Amino acid sequence: MFELAFWLLCCMGVGYYADKKGRSQWKWGIAAALFSPIIVGIVLALMSDKSVERDVAELRMGQEQLRDRVAADEKITEARFGQMEGRLGSAAPATGALEEVRHCPSCGETLRTGDRFCARCGEEVSWV
Ligand SMILES: [Zn+2]
Repeated sequence: MFELAFWLLCCMGVGYYADKKGRSQWKWGIAAALFSPIIVGIVLALMSDKSVERDVAELRMGQEQLRDRVAADEKITEARFGQMEGRLGSAAPATGALEEVRHCPSCGETLRTGDRFCARCGEEVSWV
């Protein structure tokens, strides 16, 4: 009875080892049970490690997902910039009309909106 339990444990160990190497846990576990866990274990150890290939594939997939996400983010950012530009574009003429910059016709001094006389030379300014 103890031997059978030990045998099963060995088969499970082989299965676990197979899983670690990126191979079918059950197929290798059954193979170990049918033949011998020692022989199957040795065969498994001699087989190439598939888990490395799997890791590489997963890594590549992750990179692609990341690239997609970055591309999506860029699109969102672009859209936001577009919205912002649109807002600024529509706002700019309004502020320009509100804060019209005038210069004194006599001395060229920058006048404040609504000033009737130049602050520097006293020239009368018409805002019409
Ligand atoms: Zn002036």
